[in-house]
Formats: sequence, C-alpha cells, structure tokens
Amino acid sequence: MVNTTENNINKLEQAHLDFISTVSHELRTPLTSIKGFAETLLNSYDRLTPEQREKFLLIIKDQSNRLINLVENLLTVSKMQSEKELMIYKSVDVKPLIESCVQMIKNQYKTHKYILNFDKNLPKIFIDTDKFQQIMINLIDNASKYSQEGSTVTINIKQNYDNNTIIISIKDEGIGINQENLEKIFNKFSRIDSPLTRKIQGNGLGLYITKTLTEKMNGKIEVESSSSGSEFRVIFKAASPEDSGIKKIKE
Ligand code: ADP
Repeated sequence: MVNTTENNINKLEQAHLDFISTVSHELRTPLTSIKGFAETLLNSYDRLTPEQREKFLLIIKDQSNRLINLVENLLTVSKMQSEKELMIYKSVDVKPLIESCVQMIKNQYKTHKYILNFDKNLPKIFIDTDKFQQIMINLIDNASKYSQEGSTVTINIKQNYDNNTIIISIKDEGIGINQENLEKIFNKFSRIDSPLTRKIQGNGLGLYITKTLTEKMNGKIEVESSSSGSEFRVIFKAASPEDSGIKKIKE
C-alpha cells in the first residue's frame, strides 16, 4: 500500500519535472533567438542593409508571438487543471460563432479558401461560448497551418437525427497525420517531428486543450487522416428544453 502511494508520488514528481523541463526548453528557444537578433541589430545596425534589418525585426516579432501563444496556452492548461475554472453555459446557435472564428483565421491565411456548409434548422447546443470558440480556432488554425498555401479548408456542420447531436467537421487538404500518431497528438506537448512539421510553429498544447475543453462540455472529438489531408470532428448533444438560461458551473 505504502509502496503504491510512494510510487504514485514519485510518478507525479517526475511528471512535474518533465513538464518544467519541456516548458523551459520551449521558452528558451524563442528567447535565445530574440536576444541574438536584438544584439545583432544593436551591435551592427549601420553595417546591415534595410532588408536585413527588416528581416531580423520580423524574426523578433514572430518569436515574440510564439512566446505569447505558449504563455497563453500554458495559462489555459493551468486554469483547466485547477478544478475551479468557471464555465458559463448557454444555449447557442453555433453558426455565427463558427463564422466569426473563420473570419479571424482568414486574416492570417490570406491565400487559403474556407468553405462553410451548415445544415438548415440546426438545433442549439448548450456550451460555454468562449471555450467553444477556442476549440474552433485551434482546429481551423491547425487545418490552415498544416496545409499548403492556396488550399481549401472545409467546415461542415450537420445534425445527426438518430442520436440528436450536431457534428462539426473541419477538413483540410494538408500534410496528414500517420495512423500511429493519431492518439498521441492529443497529449500535452505532443508534436509530430518530420521535415514537413519542423518549419511550422507550434507548442503541442492546442489539441490537448481542445480535447480537454470538448470533453468538459460533454462533447467528443474524433480524427481521421490520410496523406491527402485530415478531418477533425467535434460532436455535441443538441440542447434540450431544460437547457435554458445561463448556468455558471465551476468545474
Ligand atoms: P501545435 O501547436 O504543434 O500545432 P497541436 O496540439 O495543435 O500543437 O497539434 C499537435 C500536433 O498534431 C501538431 O504538432 C501536428 O504535428 C499535428 N497536427 C495537428 N493538426 C493537424 C492537421 N490538421 N494536419 C496535420 N497535422 C496536424
């Protein structure tokens, strides 16, 4: 009995140490790059061409964004695990929510095409709207960043009358995910290392956050992938008549 408890504590401590080590590494890489390019600009400003200066400033901006994203994701993970996260549930129509997420992402991926198909008379779902939008943004952003410029991201929202759910499918024409990695990608800090993904920025927290939030709101997430692209599906129960008003739950 004692041994099992000790083992569990050791495992927990090891998980904490691994977490700190991963986070430190993730922070150090962009910080080193920001420091290096800032120093080069300070020490050699007059010897650099305007193009070089602009290139270095853009790297500093990119790496700062990478740090901001990482810190925001870490704060989300910490809030999710603190057991006291406030969820504000309402019955909502997903159409305008998804449309506004697509609009936001479109500004970053100017050459991509986004197709949205909504079933008519979709029922409402009972969710926390901010968390729902965070899920959508993560999935639509991934579909865009892991695919070529000019490719199409298709978002289909359908009702399944058999079990009274709505299915939101986000399909891309991107690099795809190997079958053996399909489970792993939902783990904390899990990134697939390949020549194709190495160039794409990320911290491996997005899908962990997406899955945790989806399941917190009693939804389900599924993925299918091949070499011609991936499809992520998020499934939520349609709101029932009891799901009225606003419910604030700490969970
Ligand atoms: P990241 O910040 O690395 O994008 P995620 O947790 O969102 O982190 O995704 C984990 C990994 O899953 C990614 O690093 C990538 O290898 C893979 N992945 C996620 N979405 C897609 C997609 N639509 N197409 C191909 N690979 C994907």
